[in-house]
Amino acid sequence: MGDPGSLASDPVVVIGAGLTGGLISLALARLGLDVIQVAPASPKTGASASGLSYGSLSLGTTGLTWRSLERLHGPLGWTACGIKLHDRGWLGRRLTLAGSRVDGPTLMAALPKALAAAGVQQRPALVQGLEAGPAGGWRLHLGAPPLGAPPLGVSILEARQVVLAAGAGCLGLWPPLARQLGISWAGVLALEINPRTNPWLRQVARGRLLLNQKEQRLGLEDQASCLAQDRWIVDASAAPWGPKGVLVGQISLVQPLEAPRRAPDPHRMEERLRQGLQEWDPQMASLGGTYRQVPVAFGLQGRALVGPVPGAPGLWTFTGFRSPFSTAPPRAAQLAASLAATLTNQEPQP
Ligand SMILES: Cc1cc2nc3c(=O)[nH]c(=O)nc-3n(C[C@H](O)[C@H](O)[C@H](O)COP(=O)(O)OP(=O)(O)OC[C@H]3O[C@@H](n4cnc5c(N)ncnc54)[C@H](O)[C@@H]3O)c2cc1C
Repeated sequence: MGDPGSLASDPVVVIGAGLTGGLISLALARLGLDVIQVAPASPKTGASASGLSYGSLSLGTTGLTWRSLERLHGPLGWTACGIKLHDRGWLGRRLTLAGSRVDGPTLMAALPKALAAAGVQQRPALVQGLEAGPAGGWRLHLGAPPLGAPPLGVSILEARQVVLAAGAGCLGLWPPLARQLGISWAGVLALEINPRTNPWLRQVARGRLLLNQKEQRLGLEDQASCLAQDRWIVDASAAPWGPKGVLVGQISLVQPLEAPRRAPDPHRMEERLRQGLQEWDPQMASLGGTYRQVPVAFGLQGRALVGPVPGAPGLWTFTGFRSPFSTAPPRAAQLAASLAATLTNQEPQP
């Protein structure tokens, strides 16, 4: 840790390298702060929620913030796109709504370069534990990313300011967040190449999103605090994925908040997803893609966790967003400004 008299020049450590970790790191660096981002190296596409996301912006959102980000940092995967609401029958098939999206694989490939160009140090490691330092600040216990083998070595990184932007990983790092943060398991069929074998898939090949007008996932998340057993829903939908692929989904499963957090059985989840898709289009249900699932953090009562953690000086959260591709970019700029103001106020007066 640096000299206690030079707080503003102490690096801010951001944990997480998905959408939220990327956005907050860029926003902090833009304000001239030193930033170290810690996350396992090169997660495979699909290992984070961001890489497996549809990345759609809420209808009516202009994409202005993404365009500004791209002006600063180069292409990040934002694109205008048509949206088909397939549950609206004949009208849904005819009408193409104007929307936009950020392509998950493109974003995940672009972020490391954008962060490096913005001066963010990227430290490839899993944070295995986080504890308050004896003289203030935080100690992060770092290990190698879990590749099926035990980590080779553990080291400690000390920092006065730490931002938790690790998605579902935030709960393991700071368990008291369980009072405000839930996890839903999202599953999709992922196809590296869109086979274009039916009219829906041909729509996706044209860059379009196929959605249900009524998104059931949000209703399920709203019920999270009163669930007595696992509940899942299928929002039959599809989206482009990278330059040639397609994601077909999606199933969302939420467990009771007090239940032990464990991944649901992927085989059962895939079965349920395919059953749900059957009602939409039997061809979509029998596609040969690989089933993938990831945990997605959501704020209880629809509230994102953006700001200082009460009773934990120097610890901040940036997670739990609803529609994060629309809502997180402006909130990143706000949180970065609050954090920078805190550091400036703590600077010793001459
Ligand atoms: C199928 C699907 C469709 C979706 N569609 C949309 C959509 O259309 N629009 C929308 O706005 N949102 C959508 N979402 C939700 C959105 O994608 C996610 O909420 C968002 O990407 C989460 O970003 P994140 O940075 O919080 O988490 P993640 O992308 O999961 O990133 C977490 C990061 O933290 C790191 N990490 C975790 N634990 C640790 C640790 N202990 N130490 C170090 N690093 C750690 C991980 O390695 C990773 O880098 C969708 C999600 C899915 C799965």
